[in-house]
Amino acid sequence: LEGSEPQHEDAAACVLHDVFGFGSFRGAQREIVDRVVAGHDTVVLMPTGGGKSLCYQLPALVRPGVAVVVSPLIALMHDQVEALRLLGVRAAFWNSTSSAEESDAVRRDVRDGTIDLLYVAPERLLMPSFLRLLDDAAAGAGIALFAIDEAHCVSQWGHDFRPEYLRIAEVTARFPGVPRIALTATADALTRREIHERLRLDGAAEFVSSFDRPNIRYVVEEKSDARAQLLRFLEQGNDGGTFRGSAGIVYCQSRKRTDEISTFLRQKGFDAIAYHAGLPSEARSAAQQRFRRDEGVVVVATIAFGMGIDKPDVRFVAHVDLPKSLEGYYQETGRAGRDGEPAVAWMAYGLADVVQQRSFIRQSDGGPEHQRVDSMKLDAMLGYAEAATCRRRLLLAYFDEESGPCGNCDTCLEPPQLWDATVPAQKVLSAVVRTGQRFGAGHVIDVLLGKRTDKVASWEHDRLPTFGVGSDLPEREWRSVIRQLVARSVLSPDPGRMGALTITEAARPILDGVETVELRRLSAAPARNRSSS
Ligand code: ADP
Ligand code: ZN
Repeated sequence: LEGSEPQHEDAAACVLHDVFGFGSFRGAQREIVDRVVAGHDTVVLMPTGGGKSLCYQLPALVRPGVAVVVSPLIALMHDQVEALRLLGVRAAFWNSTSSAEESDAVRRDVRDGTIDLLYVAPERLLMPSFLRLLDDAAAGAGIALFAIDEAHCVSQWGHDFRPEYLRIAEVTARFPGVPRIALTATADALTRREIHERLRLDGAAEFVSSFDRPNIRYVVEEKSDARAQLLRFLEQGNDGGTFRGSAGIVYCQSRKRTDEISTFLRQKGFDAIAYHAGLPSEARSAAQQRFRRDEGVVVVATIAFGMGIDKPDVRFVAHVDLPKSLEGYYQETGRAGRDGEPAVAWMAYGLADVVQQRSFIRQSDGGPEHQRVDSMKLDAMLGYAEAATCRRRLLLAYFDEESGPCGNCDTCLEPPQLWDATVPAQKVLSAVVRTGQRFGAGHVIDVLLGKRTDKVASWEHDRLPTFGVGSDLPEREWRSVIRQLVARSVLSPDPGRMGALTITEAARPILDGVETVELRRLSAAPARNRSSS
């Protein structure tokens, strides 16, 4: 109703001030709240820390009836409800940890219309008893709205996939007049499309906030010795000094590696703890609590450590292995600097990471379509890792956001030198072809450098015309050339054959001399932790 709009606006401003204690809305909050209050379906894409909760909590208080909030994380649900109760809001959750008494109380309160926000796990939403409760609520005080938090859990391509999310639309379809608001901090185009499709939000307006996190500095290093490099990074810290005593997260690809690296950091005097999905749940929640409560805890984790971590003063997020996608990387690094103070996202990566990720994709049983999507995501990640221009710009472009060079990433602070590497690229490609596309980077480089190793001798590769043609460049530079050619899909490491390099179609024009190759030159001291002067 047009005529009732101004009243709603006033109500929203009052609730913002009186209940939440905020002086003004942030970013798109006002528009989003108004739309939801007016009863429209809405999709909200906002980075972590952007203020998503208010977008459904406030309308829940302005609209009559109970707001149903679907949330995948029980721990998070608990925290949200506690926080709301402290503000005097009538909030409750209903999940597998609820006792029979608690469940009865929730049911009674919903029927009596004395609850404003009810948090439920997705599996609960689908239970007949809950559906009956919803029917009762609709017939009574009404249902204010459905909020679907962490909406990216609907995406089968993401690692947070929750099958129950695919059925949420069935439930909300029973209540056609009730507005729905889906929220997430993941915003790549594919996930967005899936949210609209699978939650059946075709007509919903989409609000996309800037995903830029200007206080996070992005730095990538060539990996030679991950542990030593990590230690150097931690000791040197950011411009302001060492990260000793600062809270941070170190992401690893495997559980075993979290143990190794956390042990290593403890030996070096850091308060480090390992975290992965294979630990007993008590150990995991103990680690989370220590991270949240104590100062200067470094959690060395797999990607299992993440969703719902809302510690504001995380000063660094380090990746000692290459993540498999940019959206994962963005989410993980986004846990740094939520307080707005300077923070660093640091990563060490090397060719072995690419081989490993490709082999994960090959071994995954998701079928060819899944593998194709995963390969595309990995390619985007590699493009970032090998970037010669502003990393933030690349990252934001991935989320369809345009920006200029940021001045706060390694490539902005120390622009890499570019060089015409057409001839070296031709040498590499021809060495790969002449050795039969059967060998990894190490052997190909030995051939280029003219090293008479046993392997070279036994394959008689010292007789090839390419033997020794690369002695003009150091080994590290050759590694860098190969990595960049892999990142550009000119070369492809075959995970089924220990990373044997093969050429792709993109290699032809380079070999034929009709295409030039401009690459990033290694900086003088690549392993050094960069800091601005
Ligand atoms: P998200 O869920 O997007 O990660 P939250 O909803 O947890 O973010 O909000 C992040 C922080 O911002 C919280 O501490 C919240 O209280 C605060 N916040 C949200 N909206 C406002 C606002 N309009 N004014 C001031 N602080 C806000
Ligand atoms: Zn930059």
